[in-house]
Amino acid sequence: MAVMVSEYAQWPKAELHVHLEGSLEPATLRELDPSLSENEITSRYRYDGFLAFLQSFKWVVERLRRPEDYALAARRLFERLAAENVRYAEVTLSAGVVLWRGQDLDAIFAALEEESRRAPLQVVWIFDAVRQFGAEHARAVAAYAARYRARGVAGFGIGGYEEEGPAELFEDVYAWARAQGLRLTAHAGETAGPESVWAALRIGAERIGHGIASARDPELLAWLRDRDVPLEICLSSNVATGVVASLEQHPLRRLFQAGVPIVLSTDDPAMFHTSLAREYELAERLGFSRQELKRIAENAFRYAFGAPH
Ligand SMILES: [Zn+2]
Repeated sequence: MAVMVSEYAQWPKAELHVHLEGSLEPATLRELDPSLSENEITSRYRYDGFLAFLQSFKWVVERLRRPEDYALAARRLFERLAAENVRYAEVTLSAGVVLWRGQDLDAIFAALEEESRRAPLQVVWIFDAVRQFGAEHARAVAAYAARYRARGVAGFGIGGYEEEGPAELFEDVYAWARAQGLRLTAHAGETAGPESVWAALRIGAERIGHGIASARDPELLAWLRDRDVPLEICLSSNVATGVVASLEQHPLRRLFQAGVPIVLSTDDPAMFHTSLAREYELAERLGFSRQELKRIAENAFRYAFGAPH
């Protein structure tokens, strides 16, 4: 059978929302831990809801023990990105989880830095703190991000469970991170409502991870459009975690038609069985023309936080 290579795999692309840990393909996981069976990985990579996904993410993270493990994950991700002509990537490291596990973030980041220097594409990093771990925890993550700014960490953000870590908690941390020259993003409006996106904007988020709940708030849509704040839309992710009932019910088209800047991303490509090119194919199924998708592809370069040096 002939393999169809998507046209989107040829387009020069930028990926702005991809978690290193969620990019671990089953084969790489088994390299890290040969005792894992294929069946176990398959069942861990299926979810009956957002919280089940967070549990699986945690399970994957636990397979990353040594700096070399992180480096291997990064190398495999960079190869996959380059293979579909991704020229620039902002890769999120759950630095908060590294600290929480008591791992050596200095050593892990040194390994990642080395790997990104050799990557076949341009890579910068975003350090992510876990919302439900609170402000002190986030402050520690932001301090590391600031310390590594000249070494390729461009941004800081919060992720995890929105309901248990409202953005207001992180107002001071965001202000501090911004003063250090870090760019700011936040996962919001993924499982929670528009008020969560408003809260992320109030503390200074320049991009919103997901933000799909914005579709329910016309005032918020106008705000995002007028202030030019992009939503990082991850279609497969939203379907797999059940935050939308089906692809057809995803609000992407409505967000776009309201004039909100859109970028397409994979979030956790291995865990959601997707690639960036596939996300463009899914958007096409939602009624986007090639020309509209071209604009969206350009947006990803336009809204990039950029190389920090
Ligand atoms: Zn994410």
